[in-house]
Amino acid sequence: MTDEHVAYPCPYCGERGLESAATLPYVRGYVLAFKFESKKIIGCSKCVRLQLLKETGISSAVGWFSPTALVSNPFLLTYGLARAACVRKNPQAVSKLLQTAGLPQNDEELSLVRIGYSLAASMIAADRKIEAREVAAAAEIGTQIFKEFDKAEFNKVVANHAQLPEPAKLAALLGSALTEDGKDAIYGFLLAIASSDDDLAKEEKELLDVVAENMKLRPAA
Ligand SMILES: [Zn+2]
Repeated sequence: MTDEHVAYPCPYCGERGLESAATLPYVRGYVLAFKFESKKIIGCSKCVRLQLLKETGISSAVGWFSPTALVSNPFLLTYGLARAACVRKNPQAVSKLLQTAGLPQNDEELSLVRIGYSLAASMIAADRKIEAREVAAAAEIGTQIFKEFDKAEFNKVVANHAQLPEPAKLAALLGSALTEDGKDAIYGFLLAIASSDDDLAKEEKELLDVVAENMKLRPAA
């Protein structure tokens, strides 16, 4: 066996395995402000390269709307294009990202609660605003669902959310690792978090649907 990551298919094409991972920094300018963000991309080399180019294309369209963004965006675009050109197979980067996301490798045992931490953190961060109230509510729900839930550990994962792939892609990786019961538990946790503020926003619902579909959740009985 030369490929250690056969268990996880590339979340973009679903055909090849995980071969590479990359961080893409980008800037989004608003009228008076700007924001530096970064994004973790994991997949087969071909899809990671394509994704870097696609995201860089988006930046070239929307990354200009403030003076600082105007200055920094050309550098970031150059970086994105250069980074895309040098995507290589990188098992170390893949392995590190899987570890950060709590996804078991080789014979490691799967920890449902660690997967809960990372998927919840990635969902909370999906709208790019981390609200303390939302994090606290998620931790409270977590302690009710998982007996080994550790709030301090969860807060650490939330603080490190930039190291995680986006929720839809994380869910696609999980589909092959989780049992049906595991999927139910994780999805129940996410649904409870999203519903905790009493209104399930349209974007939250859409994100949950994508997560359910990507992790191949069985239809509710
Ligand atoms: Zn792929």
